Amino acid sequence: MNTTSNKLICFKRDIIPIDDAKINIMTTTAQYGINVFEGVRCYYDEQEAKFFAFRLNEHIERLFNSAKLMRFDLPSYLTREYLVDKTKRIIIANNYNEDLYVKIGLFLDGVGSWSGAGPISEFIISSPKGRVFTDKVGVNCCVVSWGRISELDVPPRIKAGANYINSRFAHLEAVRNNYDLAILMGQNGKIAEGTGACIFIVKNGNVITPPVTNSILESITRDTIISFLKDDLHIKVCEREVDRTELYLSEEMFFAGTSVEILPIVSVDKIAINNYLVGPITKVIMEKYFEIARGNNKKFNDWLTAIN
Ligand code: PMP
Repeated sequence: MNTTSNKLICFKRDIIPIDDAKINIMTTTAQYGINVFEGVRCYYDEQEAKFFAFRLNEHIERLFNSAKLMRFDLPSYLTREYLVDKTKRIIIANNYNEDLYVKIGLFLDGVGSWSGAGPISEFIISSPKGRVFTDKVGVNCCVVSWGRISELDVPPRIKAGANYINSRFAHLEAVRNNYDLAILMGQNGKIAEGTGACIFIVKNGNVITPPVTNSILESITRDTIISFLKDDLHIKVCEREVDRTELYLSEEMFFAGTSVEILPIVSVDKIAINNYLVGPITKVIMEKYFEIARGNNKKFNDWLTAIN
């Protein structure tokens, strides 16, 4: 496994050791968080001794959408193909043999104004990453007092570094009060999402999640679940507004996101969900998610990018 210092990353067209990736403290990315990024999981297939990136193309598409909304003027070399190619090259260059999390970012790389369109540069960093919260069957959450950012101020649809100031406030409140993770409401008083993941509930046997217009990131994991439930399990997910009290009455609940994958929620505001156990529908969804993400379901193999 690589230590930080000899890890190779892609930085401004080059593949270099991470410690050599230097940035001017006065850049607008360092000063104001003017950047967009993606987190992508790459699963290691031990039998084939090979990596498969999960939904890399969709992540890169969302990255370009974020850049478009931020009015970034991308240099001509920064194409989708370039980012896929460099992602593959840094994974291979680091000689890993375990599951990875890859961060791909575009940042405003000048010392000028935060309103500028360029220059834009890129970084791609890969790191080993396994499951989160492996010491628990599920997480204990609270609905925090902070609202989720809205389309009227900082659009949650943009995956920008500065959006995580909102996540930070929410998370710090949750951990200060001895919860694992926070759940945020949108400014309409309806449930939005977690600090880094979307939320699903099961109520009367129906799988329900807030709509993409309710102050959430248009999550790729959320889309994965909606797609495989429909196409593989013939279950329709209901995308609709969710009230806070519906969380308390739900039979099951889980977070969905690239980093947390499928993470069961076993209590909200100290109210137990399914007696603090992982519910049967959540179990099926977790199993199906990993079957697909690890390449064991041919129907969804288009979602995998072989790293070679
Ligand atoms: N919401 C927020 C705020 C997030 O940061 C993330 C993680 N990217 C998600 C939802 C889940 O999105 P995805 O499934 O695309 O990782």
